[in-house]
Formats: sequence, C-alpha cells, structure tokens
Amino acid sequence: MADKISKTDREWETELTPEQYRVCRCGGTEAPFTGKYAETKTPGTYTCACCGQELFDSDAKYDSGSGWPSYYQPVTKTSVEEHIDAGHGMVRTEVTCSKCGAHLGHVFPDGPKPTGLRYCINSVALDLKERK
Ligand code: FE
Repeated sequence: MADKISKTDREWETELTPEQYRVCRCGGTEAPFTGKYAETKTPGTYTCACCGQELFDSDAKYDSGSGWPSYYQPVTKTSVEEHIDAGHGMVRTEVTCSKCGAHLGHVFPDGPKPTGLRYCINSVALDLKERK
C-alpha cells in the first residue's frame, strides 16, 4: 500500500468543495438519491475524491435501492479501512479510505453474493474514472 496522506483540516478545507469537506473530513452523509453516482452504471473505477486512491470498481456496483452508490466489495482488501461507529444511536461500521482517512460511508451485512456485504458510499467522496 502506498504511503498514507496526512493533511491538516485547513488544507483539506481549502482543496475540497464544502460538501466534500463536510462528508469526507467531518463524517457527514449526503441525502439519499441526491448523489451523482447513485444510479450510475458507467464502467470504470471509483477513486477517492480526496486523494485519488482506487476504491471500488463498477463491476462490484449494484442497485441496492438505498439511494447511495453501493458495492459488494472494494477494489482490494486494503483499499479501505473499517471502524466501529457508535454515533447517531446505532452501531455501524464506518468505511474510510486507507490512504487519506476520508470518511466514505458504511458497510452493512445485507449485500448480495459473493460477499454478502453492502458498501454504502457517499457519491461526493468518489470520483469515477471511466473505462474507455
Ligand atoms: Fe483517500
């Protein structure tokens, strides 16, 4: 895995859009069915909007009906990190970018085969590099 990226909140705030900063650096969530990749079926690789690391492939994207882009697995096991998140009155598993620590979304155990996982990710945390 490549070296981790570490920047101050001030640096991130300067580089990112206000919505990206709110979601990725402050653990926010975009409203369902509003994100630009919720319904996207275009082939390609979804990279981290903060640092460019490859996170999810369109081959693992599926329509979960949740209103957020959903994947059954990351590009590699080490692309993302998982953390217990006991906020908002529930215990969930937070998913972050392993390179820059960006908050991406959460992973739930109600996904399709082959993993049974649903990586529920905010569109604003992603940048799709389309396959030509
Ligand atoms: Fe990142």
